[in-house]
Amino acid sequence: MSYLEKLFGLKGKVAIVTGGGRGIGQVVAMGLAGAGAEIAIISRTGADETVRLIEKEGGKAYSLLADVTKEDEVDTALKTVVSRSGSIDIVFNNAGICIHKDTLEASIAEWREVLDINLTGEYIVARAVGRIMIERGIKGSIINMASMSGSIVNVPQWQASYNASKAGVIHMTRSLAVEWSRYGIRVNSLSPGYIGTPMSVDTPQELKDAWMPLIPAHRMGDPKELVGAVIYLAAESSSYTNGSDLIVDGAYVCQ
Ligand code: NDP
Repeated sequence: MSYLEKLFGLKGKVAIVTGGGRGIGQVVAMGLAGAGAEIAIISRTGADETVRLIEKEGGKAYSLLADVTKEDEVDTALKTVVSRSGSIDIVFNNAGICIHKDTLEASIAEWREVLDINLTGEYIVARAVGRIMIERGIKGSIINMASMSGSIVNVPQWQASYNASKAGVIHMTRSLAVEWSRYGIRVNSLSPGYIGTPMSVDTPQELKDAWMPLIPAHRMGDPKELVGAVIYLAAESSSYTNGSDLIVDGAYVCQ
């Protein structure tokens, strides 16, 4: 095995990707599979297309149905992964939603829905996986999907619930990193800027036109531009990286 394979290879590892049926999760699942990991995708509506794409490239993947806000569904899905694949070494805790609405117009139900999926959902998955890793002595890597919105306030759209949920993910990540360091489990977050996916591509054109001058790179990122960051956080390469928030945003938050 070459030095680079030792650092960045994921052969023999089992990785869970939540929300891997489309968007960033799909592309990252393909990247993790390309680095050698077997992939279990968790989503509410299935990820057959992602599984097909991974198998076409010679990788191993399967799709499980679960809502990340429902502990019992997550536990059942994780049990299936352990019995089918024998381990859980990596989690890309990526499922999430965004609602653009002025605070005075948004309902409390909408606030709760965003916090429930983006923050509590990631906590439920991280906690359930952490439990399995600790019981089995697995020195795994949990990568929580945050966003640059956890560090800055996006304009001109208003999305207080989303911003708060992602700030929560960043600090939950630091908390779990410190708490679980003694077990050899690493917990980091990834904070992308605007990335072209169904979540952002369906955004009205006038909003995207307003974003462009604010992005130093003057373009949105491609999901492929996140793959290397996730592989780094998943693999041996990041063995001393714990509790970090890796920002991949074309320099947006530097302004
Ligand atoms: P998409 O809307 O394209 O994909 C979201 C995925 O999450 C879907 O596969 C969806 O599957 C899944 N999902 C949503 N709710 C749940 C749930 N309750 N349980 C299980 N799965 C769920 O979004 P993106 O790919 O754009 O975003 C992925 C992540 O990246 C999100 O956390 C987002 O906040 C974050 N992000 C995105 C950015 C962007 O510009 N696109 C920028 C920064 C961060 P299903 O509906 O089948 O459940």
